[in-house]
Amino acid sequence: MTTPIFLNEPTGSAPDGSTPPDVRRSLLDLEYAELEALLKSMGHPPFRARQLWEWIYKRFAADFAVMTNLPAELRRSLAETATLAPLTVAAEVVSQAGDTLKVLFTLHDGQTIEAVLMLYDERRTLCISSQAGCAMGCTFCATAQGGLARNLTSGEIVAQVLHFARYLATPGAEPHSVAERPTHVSNVVLMGMGEPLHNYRNVWAALRRLTDPGAFGLGARHITLSTVGLAPQIDKMADEPLQIGLAVSLHAPNDMLRTSLVPVNKGYPVDEVLGAVSRYIEKTHRRVTFEYALMRGINDTPELARELAGKLRGLLCHVNLIPLNPIPDSPYQPSTSHDAEAFAQILRDAGISTTVRLRRGIEINAGCGQLRRAHRNSEARPN
Ligand code: SAH
Repeated sequence: MTTPIFLNEPTGSAPDGSTPPDVRRSLLDLEYAELEALLKSMGHPPFRARQLWEWIYKRFAADFAVMTNLPAELRRSLAETATLAPLTVAAEVVSQAGDTLKVLFTLHDGQTIEAVLMLYDERRTLCISSQAGCAMGCTFCATAQGGLARNLTSGEIVAQVLHFARYLATPGAEPHSVAERPTHVSNVVLMGMGEPLHNYRNVWAALRRLTDPGAFGLGARHITLSTVGLAPQIDKMADEPLQIGLAVSLHAPNDMLRTSLVPVNKGYPVDEVLGAVSRYIEKTHRRVTFEYALMRGINDTPELARELAGKLRGLLCHVNLIPLNPIPDSPYQPSTSHDAEAFAQILRDAGISTTVRLRRGIEINAGCGQLRRAHRNSEARPN
């Protein structure tokens, strides 16, 4: 395991010892029309909004000072009242192979979130968070242990992508990884902290900006949203014009077992989730991914594989089997690779496309919420 590098330990303390909140408005929270309106209210013509938008989304500027085609007075007043950096890096870790980079960000109110960049062959896949914490309570997940602090704003979601876009586009950027630069973020997955469909409005506002060709311009098909299975929101997602990919965290084929792992299953039982998924496929004709974290002796038996195959038969889907990334103080352990392969083979024999995915970055605490937890513990220790 690589030791995390903790940066930016709390600074600028207020008299009571707390960090004063940054009250400047984050321009990353604004739609284009809102940015135009803001500039108009400051006495500037609409084309200034276009210039600013391009600095933010095409050139990944984090600072108004570099925007030399804007009048100096505008740059000054923006710097006083607004920010392009709603996140600061609190810690970062690179895997030993240099192909996974995990960052812990601090938000203006002191909350922390994680994002992970994975450098596969040609792909630069970025896993981002949608909430600070999570309310879903999955019993095997590190993020669930602290509960939900709050929703991220659309700007805080977008800012994670812009941070890594900037990193990849900067020759010689630290920390050093295997990324050959210049390059760009090619895929985004909403599989970090939080339940994206529990923060529907802000997540979709962020997705619109990330895919807008005039803004970040990433193809919707290169983005995947992973949900615990909030059925009504899956139905809502099916009506969205953007072709964002859907992944559903199933983890068990029946209600008794699934409720013990994913408590929201009480509200949205397996058949209800699968019903919403099947309506989604009917409407969008898009293949859905099911995620299944394999836990030794819990959900990895051949009987459960057969039960799962029965449930998924006929659905346009793919199953991702992920050996559990064990978290401290948890009774769950990952399946053996032999059991994982046997489970996969039963699904494949039933005609279901299945992969056993390696949890990359396991050595850098890439499991949800684990770096955040390590950071908290390190802060709690006296120097
Ligand atoms: N809330 C969303 C997205 C965030 S979690 C969801 O539930 O899908 C992303 C994925 O990581 C989910 O499939 C989740 O079940 C899985 N996960 C969480 N903790 C894990 C762990 N310790 N090991 C393996 N997978 C885990």
